[in-house]
Amino acid sequence: SNFIVAVDGPAGSGKSTISKLVAEKYKLTYLDTGAMYRMVAFYSLEKGVDLDNTAEVELMLKNINIDIDGDKFILNGVDVSHEIRTPRVTSIVSKTASIRSIREKLVELQREIGSGKRVILDGRDIGTVVFPNAHLKVFLVASPEERAKRRLKEYKEKGIKSDYNSVLESIKERDHIDSTRKESPLKKAEDAIEVDTSFLSIKEVSDKISALVRE
Ligand code: C5P
Repeated sequence: SNFIVAVDGPAGSGKSTISKLVAEKYKLTYLDTGAMYRMVAFYSLEKGVDLDNTAEVELMLKNINIDIDGDKFILNGVDVSHEIRTPRVTSIVSKTASIRSIREKLVELQREIGSGKRVILDGRDIGTVVFPNAHLKVFLVASPEERAKRRLKEYKEKGIKSDYNSVLESIKERDHIDSTRKESPLKKAEDAIEVDTSFLSIKEVSDKISALVRE
């Protein structure tokens, strides 16, 4: 039967790490909705789409086909799982995600993927917009400095060049765009449980969320 866990929060708050662990533990399907916005952002860069031009955005949405196969993100038949994580894509994804027609298309797809299943989704608007009736809503937070440290570590592991100050700036900029935009701004759902992960280990956070899932 259908069971939905919504995990929201700002960039680097630990959403994907925690969601993957909880998904594995409780045999839930995991959906990284940020990756979907990243795919659209990547496509717009590749094709030189002017995001301020409504007609170009509409055409792009018609021409985009998103497939998700486990942890692989397939854009028009091509696996772009790595390409969507680069700082280049990261630097424009929040702009992409502030456009209403893009959000409408992706939210519809997210509902299709999640409906009737046992799923855990992470993003910015899962508990507020995508699945307002989710069985459990979690809102993860952490200080910008802690989140920048985590992101930098991830980049190092993936061999992506970057430095602490530019990662911190990029995180703060995305926080600002994501929480002040008109369309579904990043915000804690009233009935979400907030967890500050700044001083908790991955295991401590995942144990906390697991306990909530069992309730
Ligand atoms: O989670 P991630 O950092 O990969 O998300 C990339 C961007 O996509 C976010 O900064 C945000 O602008 C956007 N996003 C969104 N709504 C979601 C998921 C991501 O607006 N549900």
